[in-house]
Amino acid sequence: MTRDGLAELLAGQPSYRVRQVWEGLYTQGVGPESMTNLPAPLRARLHDALPSALAQVAESVSDDGDTIKWLWELDDGRQVETVLMHYPGRSTVCVSSQAGCAMGCGFCATGQAGFDRNLTVGEIVEQVVVARAAALPRRLSNVVFMGMGEPLANYDRTWRAVEVLHGELGLSARHLTLSTVGMVPGIRRLAGEDLPVNLAVSLHAANDELRDELVPINRRYPLDVLHDACAAYLAAKNRRLSFEWALIDGVNDRPADAAELADYARSLRAHINLIPLNPTAGYATRGTPPDRVARFAERLTGLGANATVRRNRGTEIDAACGQLRATHVPPPTSRTPRA
Ligand code: SAH
Ligand code: SF4
Repeated sequence: MTRDGLAELLAGQPSYRVRQVWEGLYTQGVGPESMTNLPAPLRARLHDALPSALAQVAESVSDDGDTIKWLWELDDGRQVETVLMHYPGRSTVCVSSQAGCAMGCGFCATGQAGFDRNLTVGEIVEQVVVARAAALPRRLSNVVFMGMGEPLANYDRTWRAVEVLHGELGLSARHLTLSTVGMVPGIRRLAGEDLPVNLAVSLHAANDELRDELVPINRRYPLDVLHDACAAYLAAKNRRLSFEWALIDGVNDRPADAAELADYARSLRAHINLIPLNPTAGYATRGTPPDRVARFAERLTGLGANATVRRNRGTEIDAACGQLRATHVPPPTSRTPRA
């Protein structure tokens, strides 16, 4: 719901009602039924006109309280996840853009379960609204599209959601990050948009043979094509580009992998985020152990690339992409090859 749409819905009411309802929905993150400053008949009418998109199925909180994960049911019974992460000085919400994902990356719990449907703009925005309310008194500053789904495969709704987060919720575009598996047409479209959001590309392999296997969309948009699209994004936006690299034991954590990655990243001045693979039910190979993660990072740095090792947030609450849903609704059988 936009502010103009709300004004239309409230036509005939005193004008301050628009502000009251707006603040209730977007600042406090509550439904109309909880807005006690409204007369009861209006509350009831708005409750019907503005149904909430997300019904909570589960909430899990990490032991230290810094990671909160929700599993939501949508109005057609599909389920998606949202994760709120508190860091010193900032809070970040990780949102889903699709129920499921059609990209079929074998190591990913969402990919293992297949594609249900695209999320609507409201379903995406409401995840942020709810997380922002839950984060209080801390200020929610960052949004990353790293939950379930491929945001650039749901481009129009994702982009509209970005505009709402920026315009209506007042989040800075510089604090919004879209993560893509490498949908080249989407990256090129993004380069032409007004808002300078951050782009994260899930690379995981820097040679086509291995990437074809880990990230099947690479067969359609191989590394050189992806490289050109990333370069075009950088040229247009001058925003930081980052590469995600989930370290998989014996698969993409060898010295040769570091050398290929360093070459690829250096030419784009990209920042590399390393994270040991989270175990999932449908993929036999495990994450790289911590000592070798550290060595891989040192090797990259020695080769002149920028790399940071990221903590696995909330592993104990299944907080990696698609994992909470997987524990509630086990995927039928893995449709993707096991390593
Ligand atoms: N579809 C988009 C965004 C959602 S996935 C994309 O792929 O970028 C968000 C991130 O989680 C991606 O970098 C993805 O590769 C990573 N990921 C998926 N499964 C993982 C796992 N089991 N362990 C670690 N990272 C994983
Ligand atoms: Fe989809 Fe991203 Fe998971 Fe690949 S890693 S299956 S693109 S959600």
